[in-house]
Amino acid sequence: MPSPVGHALAGAAIALAAEPLVRHGALRFRVALVACILLAALPDLDLLYQPIHRAVTHSVGSTLLVTIVAIGVTGRVTGSRRLAFGLLCGLAWGSHLVLDWLGTDPTPPRGIKALWPFSHQWFISELDIFRGTERRQVLTWASIAYNLKAIAQEIAILAPVAAVLAWWRLYRPGGPGGPGRPGGPGGPGRPGGPGRPGGPGRSRRPGA
Ligand SMILES: [Zn+2]
Repeated sequence: MPSPVGHALAGAAIALAAEPLVRHGALRFRVALVACILLAALPDLDLLYQPIHRAVTHSVGSTLLVTIVAIGVTGRVTGSRRLAFGLLCGLAWGSHLVLDWLGTDPTPPRGIKALWPFSHQWFISELDIFRGTERRQVLTWASIAYNLKAIAQEIAILAPVAAVLAWWRLYRPGGPGGPGRPGGPGGPGRPGGPGRPGGPGRSRRPGA
């Protein structure tokens, strides 16, 4: 199953793709980006107690719980946009389940308890898109080499997706560097800024 690097990249990609839903300024987007990266990797905290690994935290039950808590917390903190932000948090958490489901898992029971609490069945896609990672004796040379290969493969698959979404976020119409953005190419300009009524760059010659 993927390493925290792969999960973090998936979280970043989700935040970038959903940016128009949560954007109310760069700070809001940065908060969403950090939240998505953390939430996409957090389900593996259950590694601290191996008997429950890939069970409750890797399920639709925990994904729903995270979504509800995120809606409540962000509603209190921001007072607005809580539904979109909460759903985004749930989506980032849920991405962990998808990546693990797509990955290799040689250790029985294989897969994740995706439908907990509605079912205790383990699920795995058998597609083996992501290599497994060694998480027991991680400081041996064999484990380090094995995990570095897995991380390189995750970066090769997920980094281009995140990069394309980052480019799209910047240059789409209405994006920070795209057309139609106040101050951007083809945009209306900022109130009070150069070229706007009352702005410093606008002067009228008498009789012009
Ligand atoms: Zn996991």
